[in-house]
Amino acid sequence: MERHTRQSADIPKWSALLVEAVNKPGLIMKAYSNFHSYSLGNQLLALVQCQMRGLQPGPINTFPKWQELGRHVKRGERALMLCMPITCKRRDETTDEGADCKGTFTSFVYKARWFVLTQTEGEDLQPQVTPDWDAKRALAALAIDLIPFDSTDGNCQGFARKRQIAINPVAQLPHKTLFHELAHVVIGHTTEADFADTEKTPRNLREVEAEAVALLCCESLELEGADYCRGYLQNWLYQGVGFDASAIPEKSAQKIFRAADQILRAGRSTSERSAEYAN
Ligand SMILES: [Zn+2]
Repeated sequence: MERHTRQSADIPKWSALLVEAVNKPGLIMKAYSNFHSYSLGNQLLALVQCQMRGLQPGPINTFPKWQELGRHVKRGERALMLCMPITCKRRDETTDEGADCKGTFTSFVYKARWFVLTQTEGEDLQPQVTPDWDAKRALAALAIDLIPFDSTDGNCQGFARKRQIAINPVAQLPHKTLFHELAHVVIGHTTEADFADTEKTPRNLREVEAEAVALLCCESLELEGADYCRGYLQNWLYQGVGFDASAIPEKSAQKIFRAADQILRAGRSTSERSAEYAN
């Protein structure tokens, strides 16, 4: 399956949103607590738009969904824009007419369809509860095994091999290491090589990707380790000549957001893995 990203000029790139998240402690936490039923990228998009327009962040829904909930959008309110995947049929132009369709691909479009709570009025809403996250549930849903830690390297915090991960029982930041190793598997790094992560993580793009996923997960769930990840990533962004926002390529940023979403959703109970685009 192929993915296309269509992005208009006024929409920030994923890499720019990621740099925001790295440089602004608490941003992801705020986005997650308000918009956790949406993908992380959309959570940040929603939060940034609320901040730009001076709107109080809160539950977001489409116009008809608000009506279902007994509220209506106030006159003159402008919708927030989120990114939606759409499935397109591929046409193969080289073949004869009739043999038109060669599978499907996913494309992304930006639609202005969502309104935040303060743009609406009507019946009171039930307060939102941030879903709890469970490591065992996540491992099972992602089909990843947690195996005993068998490395004799005392500095090694954890490792990932194929679809197995291990965490040093005395790891300094066990949650951070768990998310980091899960990220290596979910992004697909372990089909390319095995990863043993020491306290001194080598500087390469795959480590940046895993560490960024760990940042997004730790901060969303308010678990210890986000500061460490943030330091590592800032260091990467400030290498050599000074701050370079393009040090994390757009393609990596997309992988990072997708992997963090997968890991966060996998750890929720089935009833909480609500479909983002259902409304
Ligand atoms: Zn690593």
